[in-house]
Amino acid sequence: MTGLPPVVVAGDRPTGRLHLGHLVGSLEGRRRLQDSHRSIFLVADLHALTDRRGPDPELRRHCREIVLDWMSAGLDPARATFALQSRIPEIGQLAVLLSMLCPVARAERIPTLKEAATSDALSLGLLGYPVLMAADVLLFQATDVPVGEDQESHLELVRELARRFNQTYGELFPEPRPLLSDVPRLVGTDGARKMSKSLDNAIHLSDAAEEVERRVRGMFTDPQRVRSDIPGRVEGNPVFVYHELFNADRAEVEDLKNRYRAGRVGDVEVKTRLARALNLYLEPIRQRRRQLERERTDAEAILREGTARAREAARPTLDAARERMGLLAR
Ligand code: ATP
Ligand code: MG
Repeated sequence: MTGLPPVVVAGDRPTGRLHLGHLVGSLEGRRRLQDSHRSIFLVADLHALTDRRGPDPELRRHCREIVLDWMSAGLDPARATFALQSRIPEIGQLAVLLSMLCPVARAERIPTLKEAATSDALSLGLLGYPVLMAADVLLFQATDVPVGEDQESHLELVRELARRFNQTYGELFPEPRPLLSDVPRLVGTDGARKMSKSLDNAIHLSDAAEEVERRVRGMFTDPQRVRSDIPGRVEGNPVFVYHELFNADRAEVEDLKNRYRAGRVGDVEVKTRLARALNLYLEPIRQRRRQLERERTDAEAILREGTARAREAARPTLDAARERMGLLAR
C-alpha cells in the first residue's frame, strides 16, 4: 500500500530496566523515526503478564523506569506518544477480534513458543503473545515496527493477521514492516544468551560507572584461553563484541584484537579498557537521566497523558474493525 502516513509502534515489557541490547536493537531506530513518523511507544504490561504466576511488586517502579530509560536514550514524549498498554482497552478488544483469524496450530509453530508449547506451563495468554502484539501494532495502523531478532517471528504472524483480515473483511490494516537493526541480537555478559532484562546478564542504561566495571570484570571471554600468554579468539568473544560496538577508539580496539590473538594482552587490560569505553558511551545517557531527575520528571503523568491520546487515535480503527466484521454499531 502506498500513501499511508508512516507510523511506528514499539514496546518494552516492564520486567526490569532497559539495557544495551534495547539501545542497539530498538531504541536507536525509534529515536531516528520519531521525527518522520507518528510514534507510539508502549509499556507492554500485558505482555509482562504472559510468563508471570502472580503479581509483581516491582511493576509500578519498572513502568516508571522504562519511561525514564526511553527519555534518557533520546525518545521524546513531546514528539512521540508514550502509553500504558493495559490502560488502552481498545487493544484488548482488537486482540479478541484478531484471535478469530489465528489458527492455534500457527501460533504453536512460533519458534519462541515451541518450547513452552509442550509443557503445561503454556497459557492461552502466552500462546497469544503475538496476537496481542498484532493488536498493539495494527490498532495504530503501524507501517514500521523496530524489533530485535527474538520478535521477528512474532511480527511475521502480525503481518499474516493483517493480510488475512484485509482479504476477508476488506483493506484496513497496513502490513507493518520489520525494522531490524544492525545488531538484532546483542549477546549478554554471560556470552551465551541474548542480553535480557530477566537473565541477570545485562548492562543497563542506568547502571552507575562502578556497576558497569563490576559487570565487565565478571564477563565471559574465550573459555579456551587459560593464560594470558596464549593466543585467544576474538570472534564471538563477548568482550570484543562490545569493544566493536561501543568503543569509539578504533585504534585501541584494533591494537587489543591483535595483541589478544598473539597472546600479548591479558583479560584484565581488555576489560579495563572496555569498562572505560562503555562508561564514555553511557555518559550522555546518564547526564540526560540526571537532568530528568533534577526536573522531577513525572513518568506516570507522561504515561497517563500519552495513554489518553493513544486511545483517541485508536477508536476509529477499532470501530472500523468491528464494523467490517459485522458487529453491531450500537
Ligand atoms: P525480558 O527478559 O523480560 O523478555 P527483554 O530484555 O527481552 O526482557 P523485551 O521487553 O522483551 O526485553 O524486548 C523489547 C524490545 O527490545 C524487543 O523489540 C526486543 O526484540 C528488543 N531486544 C531485547 N533484548 C535485545 C537484545 N539483547 N538485542 C537486541 N534487541 C533486543
Ligand atoms: Mg523479551
